[in-house]
Amino acid sequence: MDILLLGSPGAGKGTQGAILAERLGLPKFATGDLLRDAVKRGTPVGLKARAVMEAGQLVSDDIILGVVREELAKPEARNGVIFDGVVRTVPQAEGVTSLLKELGRQIDRVLFFDVPDREILTRIEKRRGIEGRADDDPAAVATRLKAYREQTAPVLDWYRARAGVELIPAVGRIDQIAAKVQALLGR
Ligand code: ADP
Repeated sequence: MDILLLGSPGAGKGTQGAILAERLGLPKFATGDLLRDAVKRGTPVGLKARAVMEAGQLVSDDIILGVVREELAKPEARNGVIFDGVVRTVPQAEGVTSLLKELGRQIDRVLFFDVPDREILTRIEKRRGIEGRADDDPAAVATRLKAYREQTAPVLDWYRARAGVELIPAVGRIDQIAAKVQALLGR
């Protein structure tokens, strides 16, 4: 089963995705984490992505689809994957669809984590104090939210037109939100 998580930066996709991955026994695949790791290791992808990420802009679709192709080729991905923050533009949605199609698969469920902007800003500010990510500084956050509104929000409509998108009100305790996800998926 392939599950796609959508939602603004700070919506809790990573947290809920980890809980879901554990419960379903599927790997969670987050482009943000993979790219940060590539930057740390100084790989060719990391060298290309670093400045773009620090500014809060989106990494190019080519790089992202290359990373997705590599991840899907791994043996642990054969039974399905939880895609966390992977699809952020319409061309990425199209690309992921064809990569899965080559494997005889498709995105089976799309979950959208819905969180109001005001709450998002509070969460990112709090995370900045804990994780110290370069792209959590106020200027980069503003750029990330703009990229989300302009490039990622249309992805929601793209999926709505093709498959069901399930909306999860994602404010409240982590375990309560996880319970909503479980109820929705029926597992
Ligand atoms: P967030 O979603 O909270 O902004 P992530 O850790 O998921 O944080 O991503 C950090 C950065 O990595 C993004 O701001 C962007 O530069 C880059 N990135 C991650 N995934 C993608 C993607 N699918 N397309 C383009 N850029 C991406």
